[in-house]
Amino acid sequence: MSDKPKGRLDRRDFMIASIATVGASAALAGNAGTANAQAQATPPANPASGTVYTGDVIEGKKVISRLDVNDLEPGKKHLLYFQGVEMPTGQHWYVSVTVAKGAKPGKRGILTSGVHGDEMSSVHTVQTVMNQLNPAEMSGTVMAVTDISRPALESMQRRWPNHGRGIDLIDMNREWPGNENGATAPSRHAGLLFNRLLRPNADFAIDFHTGTTGFEVTAFNLGGMDVPEVKAMVELYPVGQIFDNHVYPGVLHNAFMDVGIPSFTPEIGAARVLDREMSSLFVEGTMNVLKHHGIIAGSMGRTGKHVTVFVGNSAFPVLATAGGLVEHLVKLNDKVEAGQKVAIQRNSFGEVVAEYTSSVAGEVTGQRSDAMSEPGNPLVFILFNKSVPEGAESYPE
Ligand SMILES: [Zn+2]
Repeated sequence: MSDKPKGRLDRRDFMIASIATVGASAALAGNAGTANAQAQATPPANPASGTVYTGDVIEGKKVISRLDVNDLEPGKKHLLYFQGVEMPTGQHWYVSVTVAKGAKPGKRGILTSGVHGDEMSSVHTVQTVMNQLNPAEMSGTVMAVTDISRPALESMQRRWPNHGRGIDLIDMNREWPGNENGATAPSRHAGLLFNRLLRPNADFAIDFHTGTTGFEVTAFNLGGMDVPEVKAMVELYPVGQIFDNHVYPGVLHNAFMDVGIPSFTPEIGAARVLDREMSSLFVEGTMNVLKHHGIIAGSMGRTGKHVTVFVGNSAFPVLATAGGLVEHLVKLNDKVEAGQKVAIQRNSFGEVVAEYTSSVAGEVTGQRSDAMSEPGNPLVFILFNKSVPEGAESYPE
């Protein structure tokens, strides 16, 4: 994808330069193991040349450390474990890999969830799509990885508990494409997955998310609609909002985009819960995408043409200025006008200490669901159209 907002590459370069500096100081410290690891700091562009089985089997599933879906038997579903980064004990974090390998050749799609550990409806959506596929009737391949950030999923929390200087909580959706010799375990985990499992097997990729714990969102897709291949897929979803923005580097769908693989991020409601009704809209849209790519046959289900879709290129954050209990005056998907009051906040005496208004006209796309808030937290995100887009934008996907 050549359509990159200004500034993205600059920041990515800066991040890589920082990692290189870390590597240099580690080598100077004279740790032979570290120096050896740093010597392979640049992985080859496409290291997945052939599937590697480690020889291990976990609960009947073979373990791989590298995958080329071309090596798998056609017309079948394959359940594997991919060997990720090591834990402090030296054992590995394994992620589940389901491959529906069509009887006939065709495009290769990847569906991922669990980059954040508290986003259950996204896991369910991917599982439901995979359960509907019959490889004997498919032309092409669909691969699913539902539990990318394994340690975050174990405790159903957003971030990876990294054992650095004490426990750091690391947002894995700021780590992609990762670095197999990076300074943290999640960076290395991302590098292993991206280089050896995801990138080499993708013609397109969809990374499913939800809102986060304490902050609920509605159903929408997040992606760069100026990229025709992305637009064609996003418009096949019968969901009511599109956030047309490239957002920042480090998110998984942008790592795919940066290497020319069309990708975007569906957002499926609240964290922690399973919203089957909302999930079904994304299952329908994803099956449409697989039909669009010729992987499965059949007529299209409902698409964006069957619902009213609001497209915005920016999300206006309403930030808390006080501490206290928040009362929302609008609901998800409500239309709001500039100047409209959207929430109030009361202190412990019940006195109103803050009133919040929207500065823009748009639609409510996210709301804080934890009713208490301290200053600085986003209370409401309002999807709207900025007349002069400023490119990459921050959003807590
Ligand atoms: Zn997420």
